[in-house]
Amino acid sequence: MQLHLSTWPEVEAYLATSKAILIPIGSTEQHGPNGLLGTDALCPEIIARRAGDEAGFLVGPTFNVGQAQHHMAFPGTITLKPSTMIASMLDWTESLTRHGFERIYWLNGHGGNIATINAAFSEIYHGVTFAGAGGNRPPLRCHLRNWWELSGVMDLCRELFPVGEGSHATPSEVSVTYFGYPEAVKSVAMSPRIAPTGPIRDAEDYRRRFPDGRIGSDPSQANVEAGGRIVAAAVKAVISEFRQFGTA
Ligand SMILES: [Zn+2]
Repeated sequence: MQLHLSTWPEVEAYLATSKAILIPIGSTEQHGPNGLLGTDALCPEIIARRAGDEAGFLVGPTFNVGQAQHHMAFPGTITLKPSTMIASMLDWTESLTRHGFERIYWLNGHGGNIATINAAFSEIYHGVTFAGAGGNRPPLRCHLRNWWELSGVMDLCRELFPVGEGSHATPSEVSVTYFGYPEAVKSVAMSPRIAPTGPIRDAEDYRRRFPDGRIGSDPSQANVEAGGRIVAAAVKAVISEFRQFGTA
């Protein structure tokens, strides 16, 4: 069940049975020569929508632009200031809690978002504590889960891609997007086959160190079948974790 494909009476009926919603959250940023700009938003979205359909829980719109400052030397990347992202996450959350949602599970697709998401949670909880007399508000809880850290997913990625998984524009994440959008599969020769590794600093420094955008990876290995296996493992894990979170 997806929020943007539901009517308000359907959401009202859902709220009578559950106060929990899943929001995919990611980034719009370069993902190397064969990875889609939306990779970090599409991965949690693809997993979340399948999980929501299978288990009957509500999936919100994807928060699809995040912290991508260090990718700004590559065309197409869009970034938010941390303060903008925190303010936006607060507004999304307050809108949802106004309707009665009390459990917000953020399924994240971008490592660069983690610090800001946690800062946003602090901002959100601060507002809950100081709003109204005695903080008499619903028992709101937010949860952050990075999709690649879902139970069993990392082990499967290592098994599928023992060499050249790397840390940015990985064959695993590109495979997930190819599974979701097989018409977007691209065949691009990588040179060097395995990308260099190193620290992440400013945008210009990033492009000097990692000229095609990849870090440590060989995403030419990405394929639809591997993506399907990763998505299946992630869907199973997120259903179990979301159910526990929703009733805790
Ligand atoms: Zn990524």
